[in-house]
Amino acid sequence: MKDAKPFPIAIRVVPLKKPKYSCLKCPGYCCSYSEIEISRRDISRLARHFGIEYEQAEARYSKADPKRGIRMLRHRKDHIYESTCMLFDQEKRRCTVYEARPGVCRAYPDTQRCGYYDFLAFEREQQGDPEYVALT
Ligand code: SF4
Ligand code: SF4
Repeated sequence: MKDAKPFPIAIRVVPLKKPKYSCLKCPGYCCSYSEIEISRRDISRLARHFGIEYEQAEARYSKADPKRGIRMLRHRKDHIYESTCMLFDQEKRRCTVYEARPGVCRAYPDTQRCGYYDFLAFEREQQGDPEYVALT
C-alpha cells in the first residue's frame, strides 16, 4: 500500500494587534489602582530581583487583605494621583521593576485599548495641552 499523504494540519496565525495606547505618554494611572493583587509567584520573582528572602519581599512590597485572603502591592502617596504602587518611580512615572513586575501588571490592560488612555487623549485634545493630566 502506498504511503498516505500526511494529514494537513491547519495553523491559524493570530496577528498581534498593535496597542492603541502609549504608556510612555501616560503618568501611570494603572499603577495608582489601590488594589493590585500579588501572588506568591510574583513575590518570589521580586525577591529574586532584589536578591532578598521571600519573607522580606513579602513584608516590604505587599500587604494582606484578610477579608479576601489575598496580598496586594503596598502604596505610597503620590503628587498626581492619591497614591501609587511603592515600586513606581513617581518622577519618571515608570515601573522600577519592569522585568520583575507581577503577572497582573504584565497582563494589563489585556486589550488593544486602555480606557484611561482614551480618556487622557480626549482630555488632552480638548485642552490643547499634550501634557494635561486627566483625573477621574
Ligand atoms: S493607564 Fe493605560 S496607558 Fe497608562 S500606563 Fe497604564 S496601561 Fe499604560
Ligand atoms: S509593579 Fe510596576 S507595573 Fe505593577 S503596579 Fe507597581 S509600578 Fe506599576
